[in-house]
Amino acid sequence: MSWPTWLPIRSDLASLAPYGAPQVKADAVLNTNENPYSPSPELARAISDAVFDVASTLNRYPDRNAVALRQKLAFYINQRSSTSFSVSNLWAANGSNEIIQSLFLAFGKGNALGFTPSYSMHPLIAKVTGTKWIEGSRNSDYSLNTDEALIQILEQKPALTFITTPNNPTGGAVSISDISKLADAVKEINGLLVVDEAYAEFSDEPSAVTLIDAHPHVVVIRTMSKAFAFAGARVGYLVSAKEVVDAMMLVRLPYHLSSLTQAAASAAIDFKEELLGFVSTLITARKQLVKDLEGLGLRTIESSANFILFTGFKAEAPKLWSDLLERGVLIRDVGIPGYLRVTVGNEAENKAFISALSELV
Ligand SMILES: *Cc1c(COP(=O)(O)O)cnc(C)c1O
Repeated sequence: MSWPTWLPIRSDLASLAPYGAPQVKADAVLNTNENPYSPSPELARAISDAVFDVASTLNRYPDRNAVALRQKLAFYINQRSSTSFSVSNLWAANGSNEIIQSLFLAFGKGNALGFTPSYSMHPLIAKVTGTKWIEGSRNSDYSLNTDEALIQILEQKPALTFITTPNNPTGGAVSISDISKLADAVKEINGLLVVDEAYAEFSDEPSAVTLIDAHPHVVVIRTMSKAFAFAGARVGYLVSAKEVVDAMMLVRLPYHLSSLTQAAASAAIDFKEELLGFVSTLITARKQLVKDLEGLGLRTIESSANFILFTGFKAEAPKLWSDLLERGVLIRDVGIPGYLRVTVGNEAENKAFISALSELV
């Protein structure tokens, strides 16, 4: 990015590029790991009823602490992970990206550590908030090298250590026993282990929320954008020790989560059984898509999420990406040479993808 000299932009921002997955028209949109199943008519009705109910109170500020929504989120997590969290262990914000930003604002002194390739927003938000980002590496198959990660934590002593599981863009999950080892190391250096579980519902691995009682320095980030098919509403949350939530209240902007968002999200959580049904459908479709890709002679990285990273094609990744787009299929070039990432779509989208791909490889 080149900035004019009159603009007094912070020098540490001048070289950064904004987040920008292409938002272009396509028949099959399989590039940002969205859920292809839009809200059912019943859910859409429940959301609009809930929004109607708060519409007549919009002259007032929302509940600053979003207590009703956090209560529902706590109940959902407790039900799924057999935990006993209360409102004081949950924090909600406008997407988990805002949660990540708040974590940096509250705790981002010194360094933060992550293991690339992983979610590109972790380093970007670190840099924007003025925290130095240390890039740890992964095994050549993109799985996490836990022993290497433990050494890096103890050597670098980061204030925040990020683990994404299942990892985006590679798809693999980290076992709960490895997360527990990482939590021990982070405890030794007095940091926080931030476990980004944006895709947890698509994985069989137990959630790191089950570690929080014994490891209060474990913070788990979740989102309604993926499994809950709610990306447009912008709702993310964290599960943590009460003290972490207290720190979130310090750095959040007043009334950050609108009444409309709180009402809509609460209504959507009431439909969790229906929404988790679509998650099962997507897991089945993911398995089929892996078979179809392998049937075309391609290789995939094992995925516990709603997307697949694949390789083994002859063209350069950017060329295959644009050839697919020409055929109406939008997937993601995540910047790993020789690899592309595809989000699991609905039946028609997955068919369109495989059929377009079969003409190209
Ligand atoms: C999609 C994604 C998020 C979600 O961000 P929201 O702001 O909640 O939409 C967070 N972390 C990872 C790793 C993701 O892939």
